[in-house]
Amino acid sequence: MGARLPVDEECDVVVIGGGPAGAVAAMVLADLGRRVVVLEQRDFPRFHIGESMLPYSVGLFHKLGIAAEVEAQGFVLKRGAEFTNEEGDFRRVDFADQGEGRHPVTYQVERARFDYFLLGQAKKRGADVRHQARVVDVVFDAEGTATGVSYVHDGATRFLAARHVIDAGGRASRIAKQLDLRRINEKLRNVAIFRHYEGFDERNGSVEPGDIQIGGHEDGWLWAIPIAADRISVGAVTPRGNVRAGELDKIFDEHLSRLPRVVERIAGTTGEPELKVETDYTYYADVVAGPAWTMVGDSGCFIDPMFSGGVYLAMTTGMRAAETAHELLDITDPARAEELRESYTALYKTGYDAYMRLVYVFYENRFNPSRMLRRAGLRLAGDKWFARLISGDFWSPVNPIAAYFRTLPQWNTFAPFEFALQCPIYTDADGGHGAADADATVRA
Ligand SMILES: Cc1cc2nc3c(=O)[nH]c(=O)nc-3n(C[C@H](O)[C@H](O)[C@H](O)COP(=O)(O)OP(=O)(O)OC[C@H]3O[C@@H](n4cnc5c(N)ncnc54)[C@H](O)[C@@H]3O)c2cc1C
Repeated sequence: MGARLPVDEECDVVVIGGGPAGAVAAMVLADLGRRVVVLEQRDFPRFHIGESMLPYSVGLFHKLGIAAEVEAQGFVLKRGAEFTNEEGDFRRVDFADQGEGRHPVTYQVERARFDYFLLGQAKKRGADVRHQARVVDVVFDAEGTATGVSYVHDGATRFLAARHVIDAGGRASRIAKQLDLRRINEKLRNVAIFRHYEGFDERNGSVEPGDIQIGGHEDGWLWAIPIAADRISVGAVTPRGNVRAGELDKIFDEHLSRLPRVVERIAGTTGEPELKVETDYTYYADVVAGPAWTMVGDSGCFIDPMFSGGVYLAMTTGMRAAETAHELLDITDPARAEELRESYTALYKTGYDAYMRLVYVFYENRFNPSRMLRRAGLRLAGDKWFARLISGDFWSPVNPIAAYFRTLPQWNTFAPFEFALQCPIYTDADGGHGAADADATVRA
């Protein structure tokens, strides 16, 4: 930090990481005519967990002009979400319940393929994408303004000067580490244990083909996500305290055995021999933008995968960060620059905050929040607003369920901030544009 390095190269924006957040940020900046370089430490395709997409992602693909290309990839179609339990009861939310003007079908993806595809789209638009390029340091000047990055490529360390740095490094965010911004969410210290199963046949069981299953039980919950015609991803999430070394297989098998509708669905499949594990993945940062730098996607916040919001939030914040960086590059007035950073921060936090509240309502009501919502005059099943909320309606000024959740101080994560109540995806009255009450509100 603060080092004066000889400049090897220059660009307008450097993006650290080529996951969904980085790929979308790079795509948008390249479209806007900026010279953008993506530095990605891995070769693609590479494995990544996070395989179920929210329906609002499809609206985003349309905005980005890649909806037809995504469709042509032939990913599994996802039309709904099934909530099931130990008794084998279930309730299904059909994304068609969102009503007019929303996309009712989204995708389940193998992330190796999806991320490779998305980064390829950024390349096609003109982004300079480099693999095996690991950023080791974000460089700041004496005033704390980011001036570029140093990175290792082909065994050599180079300095790439940039007028703006976007950190899309996910959990490994450089900026979060260097500026000590990451905070752990103590309420949700969970572990996820997961594997893929081969030989999957959707005709087993009675689940709507393509649906995600979310199975709640006494000690956590389980996901089942069909990611190809013959492949399904299954994961168990449980508090960290429940997991003892050497007992992963036992815990996973036992939790799986509690959900009869998932067991039935994966009958006849063969699981990968090794389970994968993610621990302590719940964190946030109160500062996500600063002079000539922005954090996007998982680099700034990640809480819990129960509602599959991660990739959608990563792509949406990636898009908005790119638009913000584009504007910032032409601005000399520091007050206006600060305004733009605040506006980005509000969008970022409003999105993650809405998602977190949705997760909390399920955890704190033993996966059945109907009664709590009824007391507030709201309902889940067959409700357009609930269907929209779990589809990605995180910024709406009119969604009554999201609005109610925002009033509950026990679910605050970030320090008080100004909500940005205008949907970045759908610009109709329900999404915020033109809605009479679209003004942001300040949480006390
Ligand atoms: C158990 C679990 C289940 C999940 N399930 C879902 C789900 O069903 N649906 C969903 O939407 N989300 C899910 N998620 C969340 C999802 O995985 C993430 O939110 C998403 O991948 C975030 O995208 P990103 O681009 O911000 O980060 P990432 O996808 O992590 O991409 C970051 C990239 O940066 C690169 N990188 C990191 N550091 C450097 C560096 N120093 N230099 C160069 N490159 C670097 C990495 O190699 C990586 O490619 C899940 C997460 C977990 C933990």
